[in-house]
Amino acid sequence: MTDKKDEKINYDIIIVGGGPAGLCAAMYSGRGMLDALVIERGLPGGELLNTELIEDYPGFESILGRDLAEKMADHAKKFGANIVTDTVDAIERKEDGEFEVRTQLNKVYHAPTVIITAGGTPIKLGVPGEAEYAGRGVSYCAVCDGAFFKGDTIAVIGGGDAALEEAGYLTRYAEKVYLIHRRDEFRGSALLQQRAFNNPKIEVIRSKVVEAIEGGPSGTTNLKLKDTKTGEMSDLPVTGVFIFIGFTPNSGLIKEHFEHDEGGYIVTDWNMMTSIPGLFAAGDLRVQLTRQITTAVGDATTAVIAVEKYLAERKESKAASPLGTA
Ligand SMILES: Cc1cc2nc3c(=O)[nH]c(=O)nc-3n(C[C@H](O)[C@H](O)[C@H](O)COP(=O)(O)OP(=O)(O)OC[C@H]3O[C@@H](n4cnc5c(N)ncnc54)[C@H](O)[C@@H]3O)c2cc1C
Repeated sequence: MTDKKDEKINYDIIIVGGGPAGLCAAMYSGRGMLDALVIERGLPGGELLNTELIEDYPGFESILGRDLAEKMADHAKKFGANIVTDTVDAIERKEDGEFEVRTQLNKVYHAPTVIITAGGTPIKLGVPGEAEYAGRGVSYCAVCDGAFFKGDTIAVIGGGDAALEEAGYLTRYAEKVYLIHRRDEFRGSALLQQRAFNNPKIEVIRSKVVEAIEGGPSGTTNLKLKDTKTGEMSDLPVTGVFIFIGFTPNSGLIKEHFEHDEGGYIVTDWNMMTSIPGLFAAGDLRVQLTRQITTAVGDATTAVIAVEKYLAERKESKAASPLGTA
């Protein structure tokens, strides 16, 4: 298929999402002389744009999320990244092994390889104050933000493995951690429950839900709690609240069966290739131990190097095939 003059639709590689993983993939693609297109539905930067201070990205002792996003986007553009603003609706592999990527603006792009770096979204409580105090006491990531709460009294919301595990992790920094669950029974593993319940810094609050997050100019100061059995309201003074009630990976764009775990996270091999040949995944939507900026850019680096090899092999096998297809 050939491109019309001003409407380029064919690429070596299409990168879905322009967060840390997508921008790093774009930078490596440019340096590797691959013809790459990044499709990002918003401003480049992904979750960096929802993050205040970052203190664990090597080379930057402390940097604002939006500044790191800008630096990553500029770096990718310097090496020729072509970033379009559009939302990908569907990714489909055709019989000839080429991918069709359809977007909300009714574009159809083609490439023999796709790296999906569409990240995911932490599930929100949906209560007053949550958005207002995000990054000012409200967090969805203990590894990222725990160190900002040294000696503080904070709360963790949730009843699964993530809440139990992260409550324990946060006691490294916080003086006291309230673990608040809306039910009596936790659904996390027995071992994690035992560890959390035996931790002297953790106080478990059962059968209560957060009705509102309150604060002032310095950030979060209080949680309004409601007892799910009696309806009684109470106040809990805290300076931070970590919400672990789930995370939705944006993996629903893939229109055929692919290997994934029960949460919808994409399974890849060591080269970041999914169970669909030519479709790679990097960053937060991939099954892995942790989800950080460093892991997202690491995944993306591996994915682009693997794409180069995949394209070279595909070219060789096409040349060797009597019909010229692979
Ligand atoms: C509040 C918060 C604070 C954090 N703090 C830190 C920290 O201090 N240090 C750290 O290492 N990590 C931190 N993290 C985690 C870190 O931000 C993520 O691990 C990282 O951003 C993952 O990068 P990604 O590129 O995989 O995904 P994302 O950053 O989620 O980027 C995905 C991109 O894909 C785009 N996209 C999604 N669907 C589509 C579509 N259909 N079409 C087009 N575009 C699409 C999105 O708009 C987004 O820009 C934090 C996360 C949060 C939520």
